[in-house]
Amino acid sequence: MAVLLTIVVAAVIILPQVWRQRRAASKYSQRLVILGFDGLDPALVEKWMREGKLPNMKRLADRGGLYPLRTTESPESPTAWASFATGVNPGKHNIYDFLVRDTSTYLPDLGMVRREPAKFLFNYIPIAKPKIHSIRGGESFWVTAGKAGVRSSILTVPVTFPPENVPNGELLSGLPLPDIRGTMGTFYYFATDLSRYEEGNTEFGGILKRLAMDKGVARTELVGPPNPIVRQRLLALRAKGPSPSDAGRRTMAQLQADEDIRVPMTVRWNRPDKTATIEIEGKSIHLEPGKMSRWIDLDFRVNFLVRVHGMAQMLLMNADNELQLYVSPVNWKPDNPPVPMSSPASFSGDLFERLGYYRTLGWAEATWPLNEDRMDEKTFMDDLYRAFDDRAQVILSRIDARNWDVLVGVIESTDRVQHMMWRFMDPKHPMYDAALAAKYGDAIERVYRRADQFVGEVAERLDPGTPILIVSDHGFHSWRKAVNLNTWLVQQGYMALGGQQPGEKTLDDLFGGGEFWENVDWSRTRAYAMGIGQIYFNLRGREAHGIVSPGAESKALADELGARLLTMRDPDDGAPIVRAVYKRDDVYSGEFLKNASELQVGMEDGYRVSWQTTLGGSPQGIVYPNMKKWSGDHGGYDFATTSGVLISSRPVARPSPSIMDIAPTVLSYFGVSIPASIDGKSIF
Ligand SMILES: [Zn+2]
Repeated sequence: MAVLLTIVVAAVIILPQVWRQRRAASKYSQRLVILGFDGLDPALVEKWMREGKLPNMKRLADRGGLYPLRTTESPESPTAWASFATGVNPGKHNIYDFLVRDTSTYLPDLGMVRREPAKFLFNYIPIAKPKIHSIRGGESFWVTAGKAGVRSSILTVPVTFPPENVPNGELLSGLPLPDIRGTMGTFYYFATDLSRYEEGNTEFGGILKRLAMDKGVARTELVGPPNPIVRQRLLALRAKGPSPSDAGRRTMAQLQADEDIRVPMTVRWNRPDKTATIEIEGKSIHLEPGKMSRWIDLDFRVNFLVRVHGMAQMLLMNADNELQLYVSPVNWKPDNPPVPMSSPASFSGDLFERLGYYRTLGWAEATWPLNEDRMDEKTFMDDLYRAFDDRAQVILSRIDARNWDVLVGVIESTDRVQHMMWRFMDPKHPMYDAALAAKYGDAIERVYRRADQFVGEVAERLDPGTPILIVSDHGFHSWRKAVNLNTWLVQQGYMALGGQQPGEKTLDDLFGGGEFWENVDWSRTRAYAMGIGQIYFNLRGREAHGIVSPGAESKALADELGARLLTMRDPDDGAPIVRAVYKRDDVYSGEFLKNASELQVGMEDGYRVSWQTTLGGSPQGIVYPNMKKWSGDHGGYDFATTSGVLISSRPVARPSPSIMDIAPTVLSYFGVSIPASIDGKSIF
């Protein structure tokens, strides 16, 4: 009763005050809403709008207009959304790709952020929390506008993790907010029919475990985050160099085995009724096939003093002849994340209190398990709609809060469905399957229609005078064939190999510090490809073993290699593969120019750099059919043919608008002066 009373009293006294405070803070009578749908393609929008399938978007376009929105080189989400936020070209914001490379080791690392691990005194007492820094330069328009008093609500926009401090605003982080393991989404797959050979970590970051049933019970474990104390001890030992003693080597091996925190888990197979019961951390979860569980809280104990809080969902995919269990990536708990995931830091927890559980992982859709054949299309689509709805409910709740002058909300399910389901719209795709296409050929269209319905839900909550902009960061292409750019560089004499062909690279190598470039002879290598379409020169004075002199030699190499790339032909039919090659100094300018690759390759529709190329690998063969379900893409295509979408409910004065134009548009709409460093121009 006392508790109830307290709540009532708090509601009566505190809430109106908060409300008044927020209302009183506004000095603007105008509002603006920007909805982002990642990867929304202009040709598809136009087609389905013409066919009457996107009525709400059409209503807005009829009042203003529908345009292709020029994207960045390369046409990738991190790059383009960073230009969206800052209004500048990548040379000024420093985000060129998902990956960056270390010029002293040539090792790839996840771009966008720099991590500082937590620190422990005596390998026990926590003295410093982990820190994550953004490498993005420039200033977001919500920060510039916020300083001038414009109140903002910024929701799950890519490249907003770690969250920046937003004056007069709130921000919920999007990509690259990781899962509990620090990855873009490590999923788990447990099955009785997995062979020992299949167990382990997959190319795309899944952990597969075989279930050995003993009288219907299997004991296994869920692999949680790396233990920061063990990591700290490992780093200290590695810094000392290889241990001369057996004891030292044993300690090292033991630490390596304990590097990840593991939680014991029991799987009970109730064969007669084809269900399963999972026991984990004292909780018992009953699972029926095909039904996603509620969110399950998971605590990972670093030691007596420190715990990391996460949450996951489970799905029993089969409990008939075999048992197959999927566990989602362990998401951060919004009310107790390892480091803040919103600004103010309490905002993510406030949303949790108000809305309940919502997905926090930046890469929210289950693309990896589908790509690895550990999930079917139906499960993927059901899950994708849940991801969409989670973001939609957060955005709608903030629209209703009306504590903002400008609101920006981004949903990325439109991008993920196109990556995975494009094969069913393209009969020429090697993964086209007529039977599945009959069922899922309209999967992408259905998600576009869901997006349109959401636009309607937003529009009806707003005053008719509030402009709405719908923005996407890039369009889409079919990805029929994969291109090994490094292998081509070897064949053409720009890269030299010595020694054995190394094994294929996995994302686990990337996050776990695996080996890269083992067989590359840097003393004879002039250029190397990494990321999605970037070619870097092995530059003297920059790369550790650079051989190309900056200046005239580098410029001549850019001319020569650029021209040679344009002659690359598909050995199957002689079709051109490369549509354009962009030289660094022609397309970028700014203080981070030095971090850009010398060349950015823009491929023709149908061709994308291979996954192995993105991680620097050079397997056999130049071109091969893309036999993965990840069948549509945009990164590494020619940006000139990969524009995103702009739908404006207000007439647009600027012909051929660019994604860099959105930031200055918002600033000028609120009468805030546009900083001279901004490259874009207002579209109104
Ligand atoms: Zn994408």
